[in-house]
Amino acid sequence: MTLFDTHAHYTDEQFDEDRDAVLAALPAADVARVVVPGVNIASSRRGAALAEAYPYVWAAAGVHPHDAAEAPPDMEAALAELAGRRKVAAIGEIGLDYHYDFSPRDVQRAVFRRQMEVARALSLPVIIHDREAHADVLEIVRAFPDVRGVFHCYSGSLESAKVLTSLGWHLSFTGVVTYKNARRLLEVAAWLPGDRLLIETDAPYLTPEPHRGRRNDSRHIRLVAEALSRARGASPEEIAALTWENGHRLFSKIC
Ligand SMILES: [Zn+2]
Repeated sequence: MTLFDTHAHYTDEQFDEDRDAVLAALPAADVARVVVPGVNIASSRRGAALAEAYPYVWAAAGVHPHDAAEAPPDMEAALAELAGRRKVAAIGEIGLDYHYDFSPRDVQRAVFRRQMEVARALSLPVIIHDREAHADVLEIVRAFPDVRGVFHCYSGSLESAKVLTSLGWHLSFTGVVTYKNARRLLEVAAWLPGDRLLIETDAPYLTPEPHRGRRNDSRHIRLVAEALSRARGASPEEIAALTWENGHRLFSKIC
């Protein structure tokens, strides 16, 4: 089994003590591709450097909605420079977060739109963060019909999933699918067309059961694949192969 973790924050300070040890241990756990998303320009640069250092690590460059208020005026130029590098495969993570509201909502929307424009101009896929902001996220992604990507850590309804897949989007599932209250989410995962399915850890967050409460890393992606295999009536190996293929198709710079 060869696994593709499409979203893991190895630039997070929770990995400051042992980042290289964790990354070096991934191939032995059958994790052969990882995408490290950026949350601001500085972390995007650190993620790109990690991608340069590890052949199986790739980066995305972006400004998270939490950090939107600090987006620099020259954000577009900084993202374009990063996106020109061989190991930067996407724009992300970008979107809206109305749960924490760390940046004002109008600023979040403006920064999200500006980054969708960068993705369109550079023909790159995007990684979307949508928390309690679905109507506004949908309105913005609809305004960019030629931009494709993934709704990371999908947590929405089956109805929303049907709309998003009809618009060409992928949905990605985390360790949340292993939690007790995941029944509705597993219904979405069971319904989802096979070619739109992706998996991720969102490390260091959202640690799957039975490790919940501890720091997450990509070695736990197997538990996400196993939970989805039960929901979809497929083997874990089939889920791994499907999400491997889908990840490479969506993030087409990754080889
Ligand atoms: Zn994330």
